[in-house]
Amino acid sequence: MATAAIEDEKLIEFLYAAPVGLVEINAAGTIALINPYAMKHLLPLAGTRDTGNLFAMLDNVAPELRNMFEGFTAQSGTVCDGHRIMVDLCRHHVGTDPKMLACTLVKLSADRAIACISDITIQVAQERRLKQAETWFSSLINDINDYAVLSINPDGVVDAVNASWTSQTGFASDTLIGQTLANIFPSSVTDGNIGMVEHLRLAERDGWHLNEMWHSRKDGSRYWCQRLIAARVGCDGQLGGYTVVLRDITRQTHNTDDLRRLLTQDQLTGAANRARFQQHFEREHRAWAEHGIPLSLVTLDIDYFKRVNDTYGHLTGDLVLRRFAQTIAKAIRPTDVLARLGGEEFAVLLPATSLSEAKEIAERLRVLVAGIRVETPQGDLAITASLGCATAMPNQDLLRVADEALYAAKRGGRDIVYTVDEAAVAA
Ligand code: GH3
Ligand code: MG
Ligand code: MG
Repeated sequence: MATAAIEDEKLIEFLYAAPVGLVEINAAGTIALINPYAMKHLLPLAGTRDTGNLFAMLDNVAPELRNMFEGFTAQSGTVCDGHRIMVDLCRHHVGTDPKMLACTLVKLSADRAIACISDITIQVAQERRLKQAETWFSSLINDINDYAVLSINPDGVVDAVNASWTSQTGFASDTLIGQTLANIFPSSVTDGNIGMVEHLRLAERDGWHLNEMWHSRKDGSRYWCQRLIAARVGCDGQLGGYTVVLRDITRQTHNTDDLRRLLTQDQLTGAANRARFQQHFEREHRAWAEHGIPLSLVTLDIDYFKRVNDTYGHLTGDLVLRRFAQTIAKAIRPTDVLARLGGEEFAVLLPATSLSEAKEIAERLRVLVAGIRVETPQGDLAITASLGCATAMPNQDLLRVADEALYAAKRGGRDIVYTVDEAAVAA
């Protein structure tokens, strides 16, 4: 008995001194035991929230953990393993340490779980530096003249702009330097664009992040571009600011296969990018106008996709986008073109296809999408999409008409296919 008590005491001493955070919780997240290391890392995050509950403390930085835990229905098992938690996502101050924690959550029984928290800031910083070096190296190889480059200091203020930025966007460098981000990149998430703040967070999390989107010129016109944001890290390991690189990909002409793929394919999903879609569209539209070959278009938008990101995190969101594109690519003919038009908006161009055939195809795609299951630690995730169909008609913008049908499908309750006529009836 005495020996057992001494053993227990030693174990508790070890848990308290361990260089890793340990938190024992019940099914509601209420903390039964927490060691000093975990306290050190979790307490600053809690603010005014309930410090007796693990999920309440993490609500601001990792709300998805609560969902993951609640959605984990098995009696025991690993809820998440090394789930990354970025602490203070919006911190851009010099002298502060952008910290990254990793959380492994193991359910021991219906009402008992252990969270293991470790500080992986240094490891992540090293990964980031490696990735950055690769990115910048490939940027240099691909002719730096093509790139509009803008530098932002850690406070979100522009401190340098290259000459290509001015030729690409029309804004002179002296009108940009000293401006804040909000003035240059409106934060509204229109056209499915990923917002600037979100993009910066992703760059800060991963070292860099590449996305395709519309960018507005000074004269109000807009162009389709790749936007790469790299988070710069100083020698002291702290955030030194961001570099934003814009690349107009509507007018590029390079020869190598890699560059062609870069220019014609969406990086995340492998679907055609907007520039490629435009080329196909113009060719098929000419065939329709000159030879009367029917041409139809289906536009697709994933329903409530923001919730997927908010509930399961961006990485799962990205996985959903890839699975969505793969599912559709497999189900269409080789002559059809699947393109990612923006965020979670896609289109399928259907040459030699009438409106009624397009509607049948779209209905088949809708059913396939509703059947997608993405495995997550919280169980299988299902999605739906809304689809709009249109066929080429004189004096009509085919893409706009298909989009109108799509928006009507959204208003009609989602997970539906609408043609433009059905949209008019529903209105
Ligand atoms: P609705 O049913 O009305 O279409 O709602 P929604 O939430 O799908 O639409 P909304 O346009 O509000 O949100 C689209 C979201 O897509 C916003 C943005 O964060 C996300 N998104 C855009 N690009 C990416 C990406 O590359 N990866 C991930 N994970 N999310 C993205
Ligand atoms: Mg959308
Ligand atoms: Mg959507």
